[in-house]
Amino acid sequence: MAYEELQRMVDESERIVFFGGAGVSTESGIPDFRSANGIYNQDLGRTVSPEEMISHTFYMRHPEDFFEFYKDKLIYENAEPNDCHKALAELEKQGKVKAIVTQNIDGLHQMAGNKKVYELHGSVLRNYCMKCHQFYDLDYIMDEYHCKGNVPICPVCGGIIKPDVVLYEEMLDEDCINKAVSAISKADTLIIGGTSLVVYPAAGFVRYFRGNHLVLINKQETPYDSHADLVIHDSIGKVMDMD
Ligand code: ZN
Repeated sequence: MAYEELQRMVDESERIVFFGGAGVSTESGIPDFRSANGIYNQDLGRTVSPEEMISHTFYMRHPEDFFEFYKDKLIYENAEPNDCHKALAELEKQGKVKAIVTQNIDGLHQMAGNKKVYELHGSVLRNYCMKCHQFYDLDYIMDEYHCKGNVPICPVCGGIIKPDVVLYEEMLDEDCINKAVSAISKADTLIIGGTSLVVYPAAGFVRYFRGNHLVLINKQETPYDSHADLVIHDSIGKVMDMD
């Protein structure tokens, strides 16, 4: 029933925006980093939590430990788009999906073929030198010959290369937020998937939606379930695969 209802909503929509959270990527085998164990830091003399490890302060003070955790727990070079990514790419091709807004940093939507993707938390595929701002791809920073220990070094100026990912304590990119909000405010259907909607700024974005159909797809309940026109508690890949 719910699947047919979703299909009907998609059929009659012309400006769909999809807002996705970590659940979209877990189905491609990328676990939520928050579920990882922290690592022991020599200087601090204690185990550091995943959230603290990918904070700006920790990155600046302990780049070696940061990159050890980052490369081990946030990078999945062999991950591939799942049925959710593929369905959204097809819907963009058909002109129905106007934008993807994602909290994920893995670039899988673009790999699936989507063009309009607003990456609120940046992308592991982009990296830049903090000194001279030269850009490097993921392969470059993963290659140990370009690193001192685990820390990737710019061959042009010797600066540290930083992932273009928004760390804790860092601001989200304003231009990206504005474009995401603009797309959501013009959408006739907003499909929110794979997020419990409790992480900033996801919850706030829902308020900008003025369209007809608000759809929530998440394995667990969310605080917004009662506001939605359609709620499906199931796997996002299974639900979005509409063939
Ligand atoms: Zn440089």
